[in-house]
Amino acid sequence: MKRTAGQDRSITQKWRPATQAVRGGTWRSEMGETSEALFLTSGFTYDDAATVAARFAGEAEGMTYSRLQNPTVQMLEERIALMEGAEACRTQATGMAAMTTALLCQLSAGDHIVAAKAAFGSCRWLVDNLLPRFGITGTTIDASDNAAWEAAIRPNTKVFFFESPANPTMDIVDLEFVCALAKRHGITTVVDNAFATAALQRPMDFGADVVAYSATKMMDGQGRVMAGAVCGSAEWINNVLLPFQRNTGPNIAAFNAWVVHKGLETLDLRIHRQSENALKVASFVEARVPRLLYPFLPSHPQYELARKQMKAGGTIFSFHLDGGLKQAHAVLDALQLIDISNNIGDSRSLMCHPASTTHYGVGPETRADMGVGEGMLRLNVGLEDPDDLIEDLDQALRAAGL
Ligand SMILES: *Cc1c(COP(=O)(O)O)cnc(C)c1O
Repeated sequence: MKRTAGQDRSITQKWRPATQAVRGGTWRSEMGETSEALFLTSGFTYDDAATVAARFAGEAEGMTYSRLQNPTVQMLEERIALMEGAEACRTQATGMAAMTTALLCQLSAGDHIVAAKAAFGSCRWLVDNLLPRFGITGTTIDASDNAAWEAAIRPNTKVFFFESPANPTMDIVDLEFVCALAKRHGITTVVDNAFATAALQRPMDFGADVVAYSATKMMDGQGRVMAGAVCGSAEWINNVLLPFQRNTGPNIAAFNAWVVHKGLETLDLRIHRQSENALKVASFVEARVPRLLYPFLPSHPQYELARKQMKAGGTIFSFHLDGGLKQAHAVLDALQLIDISNNIGDSRSLMCHPASTTHYGVGPETRADMGVGEGMLRLNVGLEDPDDLIEDLDQALRAAGL
């Protein structure tokens, strides 16, 4: 195995983001392949017994078992860490494996967590249902309200957990304020950055401690594989996350890691074009519906904050219809080009009704608390020509009486 420049931080940290996305993390085998190799192996062999003993003792570098390290996975982790401006990264099988790992690795019975009430349904389920089973209490708040964060802190608060923008309400969290508040109280911030990705927003630049990802979304970007990632300081990853991950095994498969690694090469191009498309399509839809939320439209209540934190508005917007589930389903059923799908981050445009899909499981009370109305629709805008998307939406809205 040749250590190319891609694994040398003293070189790669000086590269600009576009170079890091294409060359960061690359290792080359003796074959000299241009595209990174895929190591589908669970185990490794050694020239002698002393070599493996030294690796297990932590005295020598090298692979021992793919639950602990895998060359393909390590290439992906190094690339994500570079793009995020993080010292270290570890990847998991799914975004939810990443969130669960990021929380459980650092929380114990008696601890308290403050979390955004508007969140991806399963993220909210972790706070409401999983953590309490282990004696970890939680307070959910309106995360766009800075004072609410401060008011929710207790002496045993260990973690702040939120998304920005949030799925699907598009709430924005004031990263600089909330991260500084957490630091003053010795609280670890865990930011789920799935909607923006490092291409649009790097939470660590605003003081975040841990950034967690569903890499299934924009990072793969083509709707192929499930993946997750957690970034943090080397100290936190090695001493807090790794003991949990190595022994519980939420790891990503090497093949999926390879797919995401290749996806990252085009992340910046895709997310900027899709954001341009999203802004154009959202501007069209906004004129036809009672309420639409997109961070880079002036009608978003946190437009100024979004402009400060993000380079573009992202691929997703949500809108509300007065006619509830019936009217929302009527729009979906009339679509001819855009697919009905609960996935996001794909290069295809996908629309879903959160209340009957991604947020069905949290129940009606939590949905109301989060602001996920029965007439809400969420659209992930893809790489198609935005004029084709507008034509499709025009006829679908008309079919639903809008
Ligand atoms: C999709 C999503 C997740 C979960 O990721 P999976 O890869 O589906 O497990 C977590 N957070 C947010 C914001 C998401 O959009």
